[in-house]
Amino acid sequence: MGAYQHILLAVDFSGHGGTVAQRAKDLAEKYQAKLSVIHVLDNIPMPDTGYGTVIPLDKDSCYELLEAEKVKLMQIGDQLGVAQVNRWMVWGAPKQEIVELAERERVDLIVVGSHGRHGLSLLLGSTANSVLHYARCDVMAIRLLNG
Ligand code: AMP
Repeated sequence: MGAYQHILLAVDFSGHGGTVAQRAKDLAEKYQAKLSVIHVLDNIPMPDTGYGTVIPLDKDSCYELLEAEKVKLMQIGDQLGVAQVNRWMVWGAPKQEIVELAERERVDLIVVGSHGRHGLSLLLGSTANSVLHYARCDVMAIRLLNG
């Protein structure tokens, strides 16, 4: 049995995601581990009413955005050969949702890019940094130099 049994790839669909995805796939093959993939929806506008999360005002454009994100997740899942049940699209703050899913699904390695949409000027992007701090399993940040 390999060192890792369940690897979680976090994807934000930024330009260099392919490098990160390929590394996660290689690791899953090397360790014969289960591979899961998560995308957190954090860019779909949700009005803050003070009563928690509610349906967005413009339902049609929100639905289109959701569908587009889902298609991208399915494409990555197909490319990597990830089983349908291991493809996750959740709503919320990426740093929190990635760590929570990893705990719930007994992931032992999370793979993220060192930068995504949020952190090109930093050594480590904000999501990557947070996951590294709060995850209770190993985290591999794939170093990405350029956007
Ligand atoms: P950041 O720290 O936000 O620049 O992003 C670094 C890495 O965190 C990305 O390369 C992804 O692996 C992961 N990440 C960022 N945002 C998301 C998201 N919305 N859903 C899933 N993973 C994400």
